Amino acid sequence: MQRLQQIIRDIPDFPKNGIIFKDITTLLADAEAYQRVIDLMGHRYIGQRIDVVVGIEARGFIMGSALAYKLNTGVVLVRKAGKLPHDTLRETYALEYGTDTLEIHRDAVKQGQRVLIADDILATGGTVEAVIRMIRRLQGTIVECAFLAELKELEGRRRITDVPVFSLLTL
Ligand code: AMP
Repeated sequence: MQRLQQIIRDIPDFPKNGIIFKDITTLLADAEAYQRVIDLMGHRYIGQRIDVVVGIEARGFIMGSALAYKLNTGVVLVRKAGKLPHDTLRETYALEYGTDTLEIHRDAVKQGQRVLIADDILATGGTVEAVIRMIRRLQGTIVECAFLAELKELEGRRRITDVPVFSLLTL
């Protein structure tokens, strides 16, 4: 675990002054580290009857699609506004730097489906909160929100009170 933590690179003042950006590209480029992360996270959900993994743009796609493959499920994309071609529903939210709008295809999650939400980093929790609202509007059942890492100081976990949150690493 320590090696996995250390392989994530800190980039000070990116994309704005005062933000320490957690750069996971170093972990993703390391075959052993990436495989270990997906194996560890995937094992947690084997046997939990996940129907679909929802990945959040953009690094959530990298976690989410690998997890979906491991769990034998499909993967659903939550994208920044304007990228998805079919009928969507939207949620706007505040994040650590600015505000943003996310979209999901209205037919991507079916009523009652058991959903695993996946992203790389839990920071303030605003992003995943918006995705939780979306899945609820589509009447999916959220099994858990899974992150590679959470930034402990930002206390995003405290914001997500009614859905289980898991992070493999704490930074
Ligand atoms: P938040 O809504 O604050 O929890 O932010 C979560 C989203 O923003 C995730 O998709 C992260 O990839 C990204 N993010 C926020 N803060 C950071 C950070 N310090 N380093 C890397 N990614 C971040």
